[in-house]
Amino acid sequence: MPVSSCSLCASSELELVIDLGFHPLADTFIKKEELMQPEVRYPLQVLLCKSCGHAMSSYVVPATKRYQEHDYSYDSGNSKVSVEHFGEMAQEAIQKVGVGAGDLVVDIGGNVGTLLDAFRAQAGTHILNIEPAGNIADIAEKNGVETVRNFFGGEVAHTIAKRGGAKVIAMTNAFNHIAYLDDFMQGIVQALRPDGAFLIEVPYLLHLVEKLAFDTVYLEHVSYFALRPLRTYFKKFGLVISDVIENDYMGGSMRLYVRKSGPGFAGLADMVAREEAAQLFDPLMYRGFMQKVLAFKFSLLKELLEAKAEGGRIVGIGAATKGNTLLNYCGIDATLLEFVTDASVLKIGKYTPGSHLEIKPDEAITAGITHALILPWNIGDFLRGKLTPKYPSLVFITPHMGE
Ligand SMILES: [Zn+2]
Repeated sequence: MPVSSCSLCASSELELVIDLGFHPLADTFIKKEELMQPEVRYPLQVLLCKSCGHAMSSYVVPATKRYQEHDYSYDSGNSKVSVEHFGEMAQEAIQKVGVGAGDLVVDIGGNVGTLLDAFRAQAGTHILNIEPAGNIADIAEKNGVETVRNFFGGEVAHTIAKRGGAKVIAMTNAFNHIAYLDDFMQGIVQALRPDGAFLIEVPYLLHLVEKLAFDTVYLEHVSYFALRPLRTYFKKFGLVISDVIENDYMGGSMRLYVRKSGPGFAGLADMVAREEAAQLFDPLMYRGFMQKVLAFKFSLLKELLEAKAEGGRIVGIGAATKGNTLLNYCGIDATLLEFVTDASVLKIGKYTPGSHLEIKPDEAITAGITHALILPWNIGDFLRGKLTPKYPSLVFITPHMGE
C-alpha cells in the first residue's frame, strides 16, 4: 500500500528524499523450488514529513506478507555478537528500571528469546515473547520461552494488563517495523505498569545519514526514527523519553527508555540540536546523500569488475538483510558473485532475494576463490577476524560507506 500520510502526525505533506528503485522483501530468503516463481518487487523509497520531520517508507507491505507467508530467517540466538549485545542490554535495563525477581518482562518481536533469556537469567523475571513468525516462535518455545504467536495489539495488551502489566516492554529492531503506530502505542500504554519502561532499540536516522548506510533501508523498515519527531509523538500518549543511548548495533542504533512519569532525558535537547545541525529534517540534504549513494555504487562495481577482469573469483560473506538492499541496488548478481556464505542454518541452502545467490556455509570457500565481499559491513572486523586464519590469501572487499 502506498503511504499517503505521516505515521506520526498524519500530515499529508510528504516529500520523496531517498529512492533506491524496486526491491523484493529483503528478509525473505528464497527456497530452491521458489526460484522459478515470479518475484514481487516494491518501490524502496523514503519519504520525509514536512510537518514533523519523520522519515518513513513510501510503501507498506502488509505485515502478514512480511512475517507469516514465508519462513523468517533471522535468528538472534545464532550470532555471538547479538547474544553479547542482548546480555549487556538486559543488565543495563535491570539496573535503570529497577527490575526484580517476579517482574514481567515482555519482548515484542522477541525472535527466539535471546533478550528475554538474559533477563530471566540475570534477574529471575517472568518472561513473555510476542512473535508472529511461526518458525521462529517454534525455536523460542523449544528454548523454554513462553511465546504468544501473534502481532502485538489490543488483545495481547489486554492479556498482559490482566497479568498485572509489564515492568519492561522491550522491542529491539522491531518498533521501526510497525505500520499503524497509534493503535500500537495505545496497546503499549495499556500493557505497561506505571513504574515500567518501554525499551526500544531502533536504527537511528542520524547514523544512517552520517554513515551513508543506505543499505539499512529495506521494505521491512516502515519508519526511520530521529528524536525530534519521536519526542513530540510520545507526548501525545503522556509518555516521556527518560534516557537515550547511542550504539553501533546494526550499523548505528539508539536505545530509548520511554516512561509514564519521571524526568525527561537531560541530553535530549543537545541530541535534537545535532539532528538539526545535520539537516536531518531538510529534504535538500538528502539530494547530496543520494549523490554519495550513487558514487558508492559505481565505486563498488568498479572494484568488483576489476577483480573479475584480473581473473578473480568473488563470493559474498554474510547473508544479512542489509546485504540484500546493497546487492539489489548495485545490481550485483551471479555474474559477479559465485555465492554468499552464512553461519545460519535458517539461511544455508536458500537464495538471496532478487540477486538469487545461493547461500552456503563458510567451508564452501575453496582454494580458487580469490575475493570476498563483506555484506554486513558493521561486523566486518569480526568476519575478517574469523575467516583470515582459515583463508589467509583471501582479499576482502569491505564496502566503504560514509565517513
Ligand atoms: Zn509527520
